[in-house]
Amino acid sequence: MSDATSVLFGLEDEFSVLDVQRVDTATVKAIIEQTAREGSCPACGVLSGAVKDRPLMRLRDLPMSGQAVELWWRKRRLVCAEAWCRRKTFTQVSAAVLPRARVTERLRHRVAMAIASSNRAVSDVAREYGVSWPTAHKAWSSRPRSGCRSRRRRAG
Ligand SMILES: [Zn+2]
Repeated sequence: MSDATSVLFGLEDEFSVLDVQRVDTATVKAIIEQTAREGSCPACGVLSGAVKDRPLMRLRDLPMSGQAVELWWRKRRLVCAEAWCRRKTFTQVSAAVLPRARVTERLRHRVAMAIASSNRAVSDVAREYGVSWPTAHKAWSSRPRSGCRSRRRRAG
């Protein structure tokens, strides 16, 4: 897949798009991978490019061109090259997706701002972006604050 596709998805800084398929009239599925082929072991810090496997991880992301996007990250699970290291394998990490998160940071940010900047209910925003109520509420409650007093928001 060309770099133009990565630009279209706004992912060119860190990811490349491997494939794009139409799911239905309102949904596209994109398979992405990180362009960096190596990662540092979180236990010992040694750089490794030895791939053990490449599981697909589904993420929720922002809609694009009026279409829902199913983002599938083909994540590399790498083998630590250090013989003494107790951490045998680890997966690549990205600032764009927090560890164990199922939504991209840009979607979390958009959801948080949509709730914070309007009088809309958390459930309404969650529905619009296709995330659960707890995910939307957590995005809103953990958003960076600008220092001014925040208003209490009713749940619902
Ligand atoms: Zn290690």
